[in-house]
Amino acid sequence: MTEFKSNFLREHNGRHQFHPMIHPLLSQANPPQIIVSGDGCYVTDLDGKRYVDGFGGLWNVNVGHNRREVKEAIIAQLDKIAYYSSFAGTTTAPSIELSAKLCAMAAEEDADKVLFSANGSDAVETALKFARQYWHLVGEPGRFKFISLKNGYHGVHFGGLSVNGSSYYRSSYEPLLPGCTQIDTPWTYRNPYTEDPEKLADMIATLLDREIYHQGPNTVAAFIAEPVQGAGGVIVPPASFWPKVREVCDKYGVLLISDEVVTGFGRSGAMFGARGWGVKPDIMCLAKGISAGYVPMGATVFNKRVASAWYKEVNPTGFIMHGYTATGHALGCAAALAALDIVEREDLPGNAAKQGKTLLEGLKPLEASSSIVGEVRGKGLMVGIDLVSDKAKRTPLDPANGIAERVAYYAREEGAIVRPAGSTIILSPPLVINEEEVAKLVNALRVAFVRNEKDL
Ligand code: PMP
Repeated sequence: MTEFKSNFLREHNGRHQFHPMIHPLLSQANPPQIIVSGDGCYVTDLDGKRYVDGFGGLWNVNVGHNRREVKEAIIAQLDKIAYYSSFAGTTTAPSIELSAKLCAMAAEEDADKVLFSANGSDAVETALKFARQYWHLVGEPGRFKFISLKNGYHGVHFGGLSVNGSSYYRSSYEPLLPGCTQIDTPWTYRNPYTEDPEKLADMIATLLDREIYHQGPNTVAAFIAEPVQGAGGVIVPPASFWPKVREVCDKYGVLLISDEVVTGFGRSGAMFGARGWGVKPDIMCLAKGISAGYVPMGATVFNKRVASAWYKEVNPTGFIMHGYTATGHALGCAAALAALDIVEREDLPGNAAKQGKTLLEGLKPLEASSSIVGEVRGKGLMVGIDLVSDKAKRTPLDPANGIAERVAYYAREEGAIVRPAGSTIILSPPLVINEEEVAKLVNALRVAFVRNEKDL
């Protein structure tokens, strides 16, 4: 890059862009790091410094940066056609191939149909709208409500925001959809009920049962949740929770939507997060890892129970008056086909399970060595370091004091990018990470916490 260009970037960084999830004055005062290139598990910034990518872009660059196979697939598709519509009347070859591929990959889940989009938020919006339309089609139009979990994150569209489990995201954009309620999340580390994971799973499943009952079962369309809560702080539910949720949903006929935007395609150590819990959802929301971030891409997958409702007769209710210009985007689908090929060929779910265990074990000692680390938890390559101001009471550290950002800054000085999110530091490196790169991440964080301890 020329010096002129570098200077231009530095000068204009933070000036003309609104950045998501931060106050604009803060990002102007402290402009974001400019990443210019990547290779495998590493990225390089404008100053030429190379880092282990401990966050995998944004939980999404699962196959690693700059993979030749994905780039070649995109170029090969570009040489044919970049885009054509998948609205009524036309479609493209890669979208047909990818829909077949996804249904094959999710055959265990009884997958039957896919609707493509460009983001996780789109995939969630599609799931919620189709859930409502499904109930119209099967003659129960009164089922319009959605239940979700506190701390849950389902993207930023009005539907996804309405089922979001934190007022922090919602409050500036209310009022939202009516009929959306959240029950407590099964969080072993921080809940007012019990430390026993099995009892907690029972209790929260009972809360779901009671919520459906009290809302009126014939008014509830679906329950939506992440198999492992990501943005909410990497909250791993007890193993029996999802099977119990499936039972409660079945008891009342409520649809189960698994938001797999982060967990889909291996991140939690199984191909799909719900599969890792032994559960078959009715609808799955997919994005991020589907195309490993190379081209924006989302998909919503429906099982036979749901999809068959559209195949009885042609009537006005069954028209799918939903979809995006980017639905079935040829470049996104081509990138996804190549990325998913790598996920399968290199068994990335298996590597996520293996390296995730090493990462977790490497970081666990921070619980004893750092005065502010309350818990290190995770599943697969989703790891959260929970920062507290009082270990005995498990009081979350006040995010306003900027300590999570400071630790992340120190880690960066040690050559690793990690993500501070409220009072949690989150790690979600590419799923191709190896032992050496895991060790670098662990070491950078160890040093960062030692430096932080000296500051305190
Ligand atoms: N669902 C979950 C579980 C997510 O973590 C996210 C994004 N992190 C979304 C939905 C929204 O995805 P996107 O940012 O691509 O719209």
